[in-house]
Amino acid sequence: MQRISLAVANWKMNGTLAEAKRWAEDFAPVAPALEGVETVVCAPALHLPLLHASLPESVRLGAEDVSAYTNGAHTGDVSAAMLADAGVDWVIVGHSERRAEAGDTDERVLEKARRASEAGLSTILCVGETLEERRAGSTESVLERQLVSVLSGLKPGELAALAYEPVWAIGTGEAASPETAQAVARHLRGLVARHWGEERAARLPVLYGGSVNEKNAAQFFACPDIDGALVGGASLDPERFGHIAKALKARH
Ligand code: PEP
Repeated sequence: MQRISLAVANWKMNGTLAEAKRWAEDFAPVAPALEGVETVVCAPALHLPLLHASLPESVRLGAEDVSAYTNGAHTGDVSAAMLADAGVDWVIVGHSERRAEAGDTDERVLEKARRASEAGLSTILCVGETLEERRAGSTESVLERQLVSVLSGLKPGELAALAYEPVWAIGTGEAASPETAQAVARHLRGLVARHWGEERAARLPVLYGGSVNEKNAAQFFACPDIDGALVGGASLDPERFGHIAKALKARH
């Protein structure tokens, strides 16, 4: 079953507007070599209009988060409709940093995914266990809770991709082994199949995220259930992110 390959940059809270513009300019020569890979840059909301104007057309724009509400009295929030209006195609929901720092619960993550879907955005749902949860042997139950609470509130077409992001691997330089990432990706696909059927599960891209870099990326992309990567730190450098996206292209 052919699934799309997805290389997703997550800049987090980094960079000035000038740096964002330079990133787009430096990445432009790499973009033509990435045909067949859906390449997405998720950036701070303030940077999105500038990136929309400066990224090569083949590179998609993504947001790092979205409001759980449609509009109105929600100071500081950015709605899905505002993102779509700014040229955004993709959005991340459920990132562990939003869960930990902004208190995003499974219920709120579902509401965010619903708002994104209503605005026509493609949603990437992040799930992942902490080190304590892994050590306690509860990885599978945590992932199942995070995934099923969202799946059960959406229609199969309302989720565009899943990202397995073990919290202990994010920003630590300690990536999961490809074996671990593959086993979890397969498990997640099985859970999707249970809820939405084999066909939808076989078509849903599953990404790995957590200290992916230009040296280890190809190992993940060789795994049969891993269709791409969500890249934090290494995506701040367009050359490094370009190498990662090219490694994904090479798996075709
Ligand atoms: C992330 O931000 O989702 C991430 C995986 O970060 P890093 O690549 O820096 O571990």
